[in-house]
Amino acid sequence: MTSTPTPALPLLDQYGRVASDLRVSLTDRCNLRCSYCMPAEGLDWLPGPEILNDDEVVRLIEIAVSRLGVQEVRFTGGEPLIRRGFVDIVRRTAQLTPRPQISVTTNGIGLDKVAPALAAAGLDRVNVSLDTVRPETFRAITRRGRLDDVMRGLGGAAAAGLTPVKVNAVLLRGHNDDQAAELLHWCIGHGYELRFIEQMPLDAQHGWSRAEMITADEILTALEAEFDLAAHPDERGSAPAELFVVDGGPATVGVIGSVTRPFCGDCDRVRLTADGQVRNCLFAREESDLRQALRVGAPDDEIADLWRVAMWSKRPGHGIDDESFLQPARPMSAIGG
Ligand code: SAM
Ligand code: SF4
Repeated sequence: MTSTPTPALPLLDQYGRVASDLRVSLTDRCNLRCSYCMPAEGLDWLPGPEILNDDEVVRLIEIAVSRLGVQEVRFTGGEPLIRRGFVDIVRRTAQLTPRPQISVTTNGIGLDKVAPALAAAGLDRVNVSLDTVRPETFRAITRRGRLDDVMRGLGGAAAAGLTPVKVNAVLLRGHNDDQAAELLHWCIGHGYELRFIEQMPLDAQHGWSRAEMITADEILTALEAEFDLAAHPDERGSAPAELFVVDGGPATVGVIGSVTRPFCGDCDRVRLTADGQVRNCLFAREESDLRQALRVGAPDDEIADLWRVAMWSKRPGHGIDDESFLQPARPMSAIGG
């Protein structure tokens, strides 16, 4: 099945971008129901046989790392911590050559229990999603009363040395848009690095509206009412977050203006869904089926070629502001955020 890898030919697109950051969705299921992501009743989950098994996931990551120049692997979902075998997938990823940087984006529920095993397996970093520190707002946004679990998860990650612990937050008008500064105070107090993300049109209910979205400008105005923010001196590179030093440092805060300040020209990401489809962009409307190739016994070099072809057609930008914009068929939870 495996042959000696040819030197890595990167995942290049026709605009000259190279994808070296792989987002791997391990499940489309979740134990929360964030309103900007999933409907209250959940979704029609992917059938079990369509989901890549652990060996298939690790084989695709190995192809990406050894043949396609991928240097970073981030596990996501759905909620990646509910995937059975997650620790083992991390361990096997950490044993690959060259060893990629390994991180996870999680809602944090149960992270306190599994963080030591994840750290021992080779996980480097975590991003925990937390939009509010008020229990009633948390319940309203996520439709579950599990704020304490998330906070325990954050503490467990820090205790296990998965630092710096990062927090991702989405602001929703009328829910938590008055809590930006409060969340930043809380994160700084706990030593967590906060990033705000503009809400994107990726919810399953298609409820996103440009007018309702809280913009990066609004987020910064709200923060500047309580903090002194200075542009961070480091090069931004392909990082989506604009970083600011808070009150002279060392604390920082990031703002990811995916919609109003797009960074598509510097994008270095590629996504693999839980059912083995490559997506060259969060907003892509096409996918390339690697699962089928895997399951009919294609050799690694053929799968690597399919992957390169999939990347070549990546569009120059997400086009959210174009009149012709169409939301992708899959929601964020099924693509892998
Ligand atoms: N369940 C995990 C979590 O919440 O961190 C991982 C998957 S979740 C889809 C990944 C990230 O996407 C989270 O930080 C979440 O807040 C963000 N997200 C989900 N829907 C979004 C949307 N419509 N716009 C912006 N970010 C969104
Ligand atoms: Fe679940 Fe993450 Fe989506 Fe919230 S954002 S419903 S935690 S997948």
